[in-house]
Amino acid sequence: MPRNGASSRPADSRSNPNPNPDPDANAAGGGNPKPAKNPSSNPAAKKKPQGASTSAALNESKPRGPSPPPELSGTGSEETDLSSSEGDDSTWISWFCGLRGNELLCEVDEDYIQDDFNLCGLQGLVPYYDYALDMILDSDSFSGELDGEEHSEIESAAELLYGLIHARYIVTSKGLNAMHDKYKRADFGRCPRVFCGGQPCLPVGSSDIPHSGSVKIYCPKCEDLYFPRCKYQSNMDGAYIGTTFPHLFLMTYPSAKPAKPVQGYVPRVFGFKLHEKPR
Ligand SMILES: [Zn+2]
Repeated sequence: MPRNGASSRPADSRSNPNPNPDPDANAAGGGNPKPAKNPSSNPAAKKKPQGASTSAALNESKPRGPSPPPELSGTGSEETDLSSSEGDDSTWISWFCGLRGNELLCEVDEDYIQDDFNLCGLQGLVPYYDYALDMILDSDSFSGELDGEEHSEIESAAELLYGLIHARYIVTSKGLNAMHDKYKRADFGRCPRVFCGGQPCLPVGSSDIPHSGSVKIYCPKCEDLYFPRCKYQSNMDGAYIGTTFPHLFLMTYPSAKPAKPVQGYVPRVFGFKLHEKPR
């Protein structure tokens, strides 16, 4: 799989975004400033874990395997001089989506991200845009050039950029299909309402503009909104999902929409129903 300029860039220092991302933490100074060259400062703590190294943020281990996937083995001669990246069989995208709290996100096709048309308009919304895009696509053009602070700002920018790309992707047919698989596995959680009987839910944003609110959970049965049960999910920006997704999803997959609940809760005091409008 082609990656922009991958052949000329070191790939041994994949970055590690904050495992507990705060959508509001992207307050970088705007634009795409060129960071100062600083090859020696590349804090190990910020590295995306590789091979069998441990990380509490990872839901799944990434063992060093003898046979990397085709997109990694396709880098040709790099394998000989970049030993530290050998066997790291996960991309930034799969690693990021595996972080705790990111269960609501699906993995966006790299082909979709590499098509500039799909990213139109995002450059003005994301600081360090070019670096963030390189990070998402594992191009790592900035390796060895950044200090810790810049690295962490780019990590935040990469998270924001991925989220905004994700919101666009999940309303395409491929994205809807990927989210359908997650819905069938109830990856988005279940409705807490008793009479919904554990109905799987869908994520939704209350706004399409970043930093406008956190993600919510929509139950297609009672058609109401809930806060995610997981506090890590509550930190996710609603713009990473957007306002359209669950409703377009249910139009696309009508069979996924359940019948409306027939039962409702009736409050009683000593067995008697309460007055309709007590004064
Ligand atoms: Zn419900």
